[in-house]
Amino acid sequence: MNNTYYGKLIFEISQPGRVGCSLPRNVFGNYSLDELPAALRRRSDTLLPEVDELSVVRHYTNMSNNNFGVDTGFYPLGSCTMKYNPKINDEMAADPKFTALHPSQPVETTQGALQLYDEVQRTLSEISGLHRFTLNPYAGAHGEMVGLMIIRTYHLRRGDAHRTKIIVPNSSHGTNPASAAVCGLQIVEVKSTEDGTVDVQDLIPLLDENLAGMMMTNPNTLGIFETQIPEIARLIHEAGGLMYYDGANLNPMLGVCRPGDMGFDVMHINIHKTFSTPHGGGGPGAGPVGVREDLAELLPNPQVCRLDDGTYSLCHHEKSIGYISRFLGNYGVLMRAYAYLLTMGREQIKRVGALSTLNANYIKESLKDCYELPIKGLCKHEFVFDGLKDKSTEVTTLDVAKRLLDYGYHAPTIYFPLLFHQSLMIEPTETESKSTLDAFIEVMRKIAEEAKTSPEIVKNAPHHTPVRRLDDVKAVREPKLTFKDLIES
Ligand SMILES: *Cc1c(COP(=O)(O)O)cnc(C)c1O
Repeated sequence: MNNTYYGKLIFEISQPGRVGCSLPRNVFGNYSLDELPAALRRRSDTLLPEVDELSVVRHYTNMSNNNFGVDTGFYPLGSCTMKYNPKINDEMAADPKFTALHPSQPVETTQGALQLYDEVQRTLSEISGLHRFTLNPYAGAHGEMVGLMIIRTYHLRRGDAHRTKIIVPNSSHGTNPASAAVCGLQIVEVKSTEDGTVDVQDLIPLLDENLAGMMMTNPNTLGIFETQIPEIARLIHEAGGLMYYDGANLNPMLGVCRPGDMGFDVMHINIHKTFSTPHGGGGPGAGPVGVREDLAELLPNPQVCRLDDGTYSLCHHEKSIGYISRFLGNYGVLMRAYAYLLTMGREQIKRVGALSTLNANYIKESLKDCYELPIKGLCKHEFVFDGLKDKSTEVTTLDVAKRLLDYGYHAPTIYFPLLFHQSLMIEPTETESKSTLDAFIEVMRKIAEEAKTSPEIVKNAPHHTPVRRLDDVKAVREPKLTFKDLIES
């Protein structure tokens, strides 16, 4: 594709005097510009592009055609994957009966919205085995911060201000240590064993009277189920700490087992990953936090409460850690989750874990003769390769990821987790068909073959994308974020 609009910024197709819209009449009367008080008038031109209507439409349509998303093709990005995103949920979330509500309306007029919040909260409690949830946090990392603030406050109120040590496995998601640092906690890393799970022998010497708690992800970022949880929870609780569950990717666990039953005290769930909200480039999301019964009074305000007469109200608890978001969080995301939970229901939701596990293992077993599989055995929703099996080639994980773009696939997560040098993390999700998985496996095998027979093709990929290989480091070090930056460079 190559036309006037292609590959240009909207500022570059701007022509002086072009107009693409006509403003509606001023509802307060038809003032002419001269009647506006001088002090309120601009003294310089805006730096907005001047473009006609067709140019605007074509510019943005061309740009959206360059985008890759779950609606254009297979997207096996490990760890942060969008799972099932039914379109009907977007439709539900766009219903003006909800979107037109103002958060400060009297609660008598927002009963339905509060009921929805309450029912999502109760359903998450049932799914996770934790007593009570807040849906206010905006994302997974935000949920982690709220959960850790609750843990910190729990210790402070018991007079244990010295309990600031938080144990985090070396396979953990980067947000875990980051959130702990934001909460003023000291991070101590625990090693993983050969099979990818937490090394209990390495954990024991770390336990002392300064322990605040331990954060665990399950299945962990290697896609492995942490089998030692009961023992770990016992050790942490004996040492006076609390157990935190990173439930960002809860799909393999749905209806199979519950963090609350495993001994976890606090957890977060990523609604946007597991309960259907299309997201990317940082949002939108929701990171509900659940806690065991005696911690419920610490949950952030405001809380939605069901009164004895069956109506709903907003409550502000005195012992709460306080306010962590405006009103009730990202409400549109919660609406999608509600629609998802109701359409799946108690029975269908149990199939999510089994299917996501089946799909991941199918790809893993079909490719392990060409890609290095450092952690063998059954994985859950995702798994990690450590580059190509054939170590004699110069072809790296980055090259494989770039070559996948030529074949029309989104690249998997690469170079994470940090446990391996050539990590290639693949998560197919529960809703992909066998034919999609087979086509992906065929392409991955083809790339492994190309790495042997014509490595330069892979090393110079991508060949068929709008731009070729980008200089990531330069892009980060010298970002051009505005048109002005660009023309001045
Ligand atoms: C995605 C993810 C997070 C962070 O969630 P955000 O919504 O991106 O802040 C935390 N932990 C794990 C394991 C994740 O996959």
